[in-house]
Amino acid sequence: MISPKIQDAINAQINAELWSAYLYLSMGMNFEDKGLSGVANWFRIQFKEEQAHAEIFINYLLSRGGRVVLKAIDAVPTEWPDSLAAFTDTLAHEEKVTALINALYALAEEEHDYATRGKLDWFVAEQVEEEENARQLIDRLKMMGDNTMALYSFDQELGARVYNVPAPLAAK
Ligand code: MG
Repeated sequence: MISPKIQDAINAQINAELWSAYLYLSMGMNFEDKGLSGVANWFRIQFKEEQAHAEIFINYLLSRGGRVVLKAIDAVPTEWPDSLAAFTDTLAHEEKVTALINALYALAEEEHDYATRGKLDWFVAEQVEEEENARQLIDRLKMMGDNTMALYSFDQELGARVYNVPAPLAAK
């Protein structure tokens, strides 16, 4: 059995992952509207990844005999003027998610819940990757400035991103 404290914290994290999914879907729709279908593709894949993160927590909570309780998902912004603005928001958001994962990790230690702490290791590593990806894309966009050709290739490149089921979910 899982402690009520950990159960509540995981339910809150499920909500946070679904909010992230909704945020990235909104970014995707913003870029579909602006005709940047590659950038839109990148965010639509990010949307799927965040849904997968929520599902990993859902499956884990169920495996511990817990109860998943789904709460309302807050509204998300809908407009970003350009890719740099969206990836800057992405990095800031991922830094917040990292803090949430770290707080959950600390709670698991406080509650002596080592199974939960172990489950979180994958998320700790995943957050390093999420932040690094956003940071690299921001650096590249800053370098490009308003070079249309460079932005065109950037959009093409992001259009080639494909969705891979995250390992903890694929293993299920
Ligand atoms: Mg996530």
